[in-house]
Amino acid sequence: MNVKDFAQGNVLFKDVYFKKHEDELLELANQGQAPKALFIGCSDSRVVPDIILQTKPGDLFVVRNVGNFVPPHKVDDGFHSTASAIEYAVSVLNVNDIIICGHSDCGAIKHLFAPKPPQEQPLTYINNWLKLAQRAKSMALVSLGKDAKETDILRTTEKLSIITQLDNLMTYPEIKKRLDDETLYIHGWYYDVLSGNIDYYDPETFQFVPLESKK
Ligand SMILES: [Zn+2]
Repeated sequence: MNVKDFAQGNVLFKDVYFKKHEDELLELANQGQAPKALFIGCSDSRVVPDIILQTKPGDLFVVRNVGNFVPPHKVDDGFHSTASAIEYAVSVLNVNDIIICGHSDCGAIKHLFAPKPPQEQPLTYINNWLKLAQRAKSMALVSLGKDAKETDILRTTEKLSIITQLDNLMTYPEIKKRLDDETLYIHGWYYDVLSGNIDYYDPETFQFVPLESKK
C-alpha cells in the first residue's frame, strides 16, 4: 500500500460513500459538527475508532496519540495538543462523554519495558511522553510481582494505564466541574486487537467487563 493506493481510495470514497451519504454529509458540512463523544485513542493503526465502533462522520471527536495518554492539567507555554483537543471537545462542543480507549499489544506500553534505546537513535519526545504510563507500570509490577509472565505484565499495564489516564482527566477543572454536575461522563475502554472485543472499566468492581453487557 502506498500513496497511489490512498489516492485511489479517495476516488472510491467520493464515488461510493460520499454519494450514498451525501445528504447527511452536506448537512454536517453546512450545520457544523455536534459530536456526542470525545474519543481518546492510541495512534496504533489497528485501533480505528470509526471502524471498531461502526460510527460515522460527525459522531466522534477524536484525538489519538502514542499510548492514548492524557497529560495532567498544566498551564504553561508548551504546545499541548491533547489538552487542546480535550478543552475544545468539552468547553466548545459540550460533549457528554469522554472515552479513553486503550488496547492490547500497545507499542507504547511495550516500549516502557524495553531496554534503553541505542544512543545513535535517540527518541527525542517518546521517552518523556512515556512517563505518563510510569505509574501504571509500577502498579502492574507491584501487583503481579517481577516474576510474572511478560504478557501478563504488559496486558495489566495497558489496563492500569487507562485507569491512571482517567485520573489525569479529572485534573482538568472544567471536567471535574461537569462530572460533579453530571453533564459529563468519562469511560475507560480496552480494545482487544485479537478479537475486536471492547471491555469497559467498572469503577465499582475495579474490573474490566464486556462493553456489550453494559446497560
Ligand atoms: Zn497503542
